[in-house]
Amino acid sequence: MKKHNFYAGPSIMPQYTNEKVIEAIQDFAGTGLSIMEVSHRSKEFVAVMDQAVAMVKELLEVPSGYSVIFVGGGASLQFAMVPMNMLEKKAAYLNTGEWAGKALKEAKFFGEVVEVASSKDKNFNYIPKNYVVPADADYFHITTNNTIFGTELKKDPDVSVPLVADMSSDIFSRPVDVSKYSVIYGGAQKNLAPAGVTFAIIKNDVLGRVTRPIPTMLDYKTHIEKESMFNTPPVLPVFAALKTLEWLKQKGGVATMQKINQEKAALLYNEIERNKLFVATVPDPEDRSLMNVCFVMTDTYKELEKEFAAFAKSMGMVGIEGHRSVGGFRASLYNALPLESVRALVDCMKEFEKKY
Ligand SMILES: *Cc1c(COP(=O)(O)O)cnc(C)c1O
Repeated sequence: MKKHNFYAGPSIMPQYTNEKVIEAIQDFAGTGLSIMEVSHRSKEFVAVMDQAVAMVKELLEVPSGYSVIFVGGGASLQFAMVPMNMLEKKAAYLNTGEWAGKALKEAKFFGEVVEVASSKDKNFNYIPKNYVVPADADYFHITTNNTIFGTELKKDPDVSVPLVADMSSDIFSRPVDVSKYSVIYGGAQKNLAPAGVTFAIIKNDVLGRVTRPIPTMLDYKTHIEKESMFNTPPVLPVFAALKTLEWLKQKGGVATMQKINQEKAALLYNEIERNKLFVATVPDPEDRSLMNVCFVMTDTYKELEKEFAAFAKSMGMVGIEGHRSVGGFRASLYNALPLESVRALVDCMKEFEKKY
């Protein structure tokens, strides 16, 4: 039976990426060796790294004055690297969920942290608005897509202090005005590559402003100067990232991807609205994530959740269980998920509704 992969991360990869990785595991760039066996300093791999950096810049139209790096440690290490490299006195954070909260917690190791707003009062089911960012903050940190709670900040905010964003789960899903940001980072395992590599897009002139000494591996400057080759980079995930970026370009880039993602998300949210059994956990359509669609069964049908989960599984749906802090269901509709899979889930919901 065909499987429809709705996992939140690690998650579905383009078929193109999977195939190219298989080829490279057998014979990487005509070397006669597996990509897992070659030096990261070989000219073949250095070319992969250079192209991956160039493709990120091209697809996101990264302006000059920015560097793109690939490092290890996940987005979670960036939670600490950002304040270590940028927080001198005070930083401002928007608390929109579990990941945002973890980022905020790490920043407290390095200085004063102001939580400008939080949506915790409603289990993070909305994006706070009308907050004030202190003008003397060293930076303002946001999480553009809240993977667990299914909310998304779809517009690049205008602020007067350097803007930092965790875009782990919506990078490359839509155009982004990079010039509004000082740092954009994320783990690759949602929309780009297998787990193990983290990307960061850094405006060069925001570095060098803190007085603390920074350990070499945790200093953005190290990775910028050594072009992500200070130590051994995650070779295979970087290769996979390059293939996903090539696939994205062939598809028409981030603007085309945004249209497809809007269509996919609309299909599922419309069915949730129409179907008497289900309700979306994020009430305001404006705040609803196009990447992670969270929904539960209405109070009347609450006891059917386990049955629907089993039914969906029997129809080939994989990974739709909601995160434990929200419950119900979460369907992740990342770039690589085809429209056909969303249709299959919608059909499954319709068929289940007929039973009741
Ligand atoms: C998955 C995720 C993270 C954590 O990423 P790791 O690479 O596992 O550290 C952080 N932020 C967001 C928004 C995520 O979706």
